[in-house]
Amino acid sequence: MTESITIAGAGLAGSLLSIYLAKRGYRVTVFERRPDMRRQHLDAGRSINLALANRGLRALEAVGLADRVAPLLIPMKGRMLHEPDAQPVLQPYGKDEHEVIYSVSRPGLNALLLDAAEQLGVDIRFNQTLTQLNPSTGELSLRDGDRDYTHDACPLIATDGSGSLARRTLGFMPGSTSTEEFLEHGYKELTIPAGTDGQFLIEKNALHIWPRSGYMLIALPNLDGSFTVTLFMPREGKTSFASLNSPDAVNAFFELQFPDALALMPELAAEYFENPTGKLVTVRCNPWHHEDKVVLLGDAAHAIVPFHGQGMNCAFEDCYIFDQILGDGRPDAPDWRAVFALFEARRRPNANAIADLALDNYIVMRSSVRDPRFHLKKELSWELERRFPTLFIPRYSMVMFHHVPYSAALERGHIQERLLDELIGDHESLAHIDFAIAQQRLQSELGEVPHGE
Ligand code: FAD
Repeated sequence: MTESITIAGAGLAGSLLSIYLAKRGYRVTVFERRPDMRRQHLDAGRSINLALANRGLRALEAVGLADRVAPLLIPMKGRMLHEPDAQPVLQPYGKDEHEVIYSVSRPGLNALLLDAAEQLGVDIRFNQTLTQLNPSTGELSLRDGDRDYTHDACPLIATDGSGSLARRTLGFMPGSTSTEEFLEHGYKELTIPAGTDGQFLIEKNALHIWPRSGYMLIALPNLDGSFTVTLFMPREGKTSFASLNSPDAVNAFFELQFPDALALMPELAAEYFENPTGKLVTVRCNPWHHEDKVVLLGDAAHAIVPFHGQGMNCAFEDCYIFDQILGDGRPDAPDWRAVFALFEARRRPNANAIADLALDNYIVMRSSVRDPRFHLKKELSWELERRFPTLFIPRYSMVMFHHVPYSAALERGHIQERLLDELIGDHESLAHIDFAIAQQRLQSELGEVPHGE
């Protein structure tokens, strides 16, 4: 008999996971609260484009979607820094031109995944809201308009995002812990429109940053020539979303801080007041599963702040690893309890690590990138990687261009940071570095870069 599986949430993780499961021959039903995004324009205010990196790409490639996704991608080869009174400068992301990340439309990618899932026979039911979950029986309560009904899920994979009802339900069980830490900073999405002939008005193949230490503006390219611009700043306080409370205040702030961006944003004040101010949350919880009945995956288990561009990438890697674990068992009679337990054991330490890395990268993006010593350390990192690739990979590269487990990237990152500081010392160039000594230190203090997840 074909095994049935229920998924709650047809966002990025739920729709990709349904593809993996359908490819293995499972009968998959997905309940999604929102209308079908392919037929109805959904609300603005959720991030419109995302950075897709190696981990996410691998998970898409593994289900044969690389060719279909490729036309949606815009390579970004580095950060284009916009400092006041200076020409923009490109800081490459990687040691060579192949190490790039990609801007991709969230609705474009989600719609592609929904199409691919339905082509494989996945039954996606829109406008169906999960309202209750009984973890002991696996029974779901759902709402369809004003009709309430139940569904026997067994098993349920909950991919219902950062506000997950399934996570909150598991959080009430004895012995569970669940924290949602909201950052004091929020975000607002704005636009740099395309030029009159659809051309890109700033460099297309870069992620633009206007770092201002206490806050920052970023911009990612879209296929239509526009850029989605995001302002990150404190929600309350002297310079905050709360203090920018009139069109004049917004324009004056941009005139002072981001004049080159302002010149390209004719609708700034209107958009600023139309678009919501989003909150940024880090979710950590334990456990992620209950017996053989339910498991959390994606943001439902581990929402993180967006500063490493890894939330979706991590959720896609979850799908890849979940499939690997399934592959080890008997496809006709999976031991769900064991699958869920193994998945949680492998992924929770890594999810906690990328949560920390993402929080740290906010400081890097809005502040460290302005420091000349940061660039000296980058230069040395790339040189060490070129000379000793089995011993040293820069932390950013481990996260974005490799599959090194996040927990190893975090741990090695701390050691690497100290080594870089010590090797550079008080010098202002790399001319004094003795690479033979550096190699010895890498060998003894770091050892070989571990294999990927
Ligand atoms: P979601 O995409 O949120 O999907 C959850 C789905 O569940 C939704 O469709 C929702 O409608 C549905 N749902 C919720 N509750 C119910 C219910 N009760 N019943 C039924 N359905 C329900 N990640 C990156 O990798 N790169 C980036 O550059 C990046 N940038 C970001 C920028 C911002 C500003 C933000 C906020 C996030 C960013 N992320 C990025 C993170 C990324 O958006 C998430 O990690 C990703 O969307 C997680 O996918 P998911 O499927 O787990 O959750």
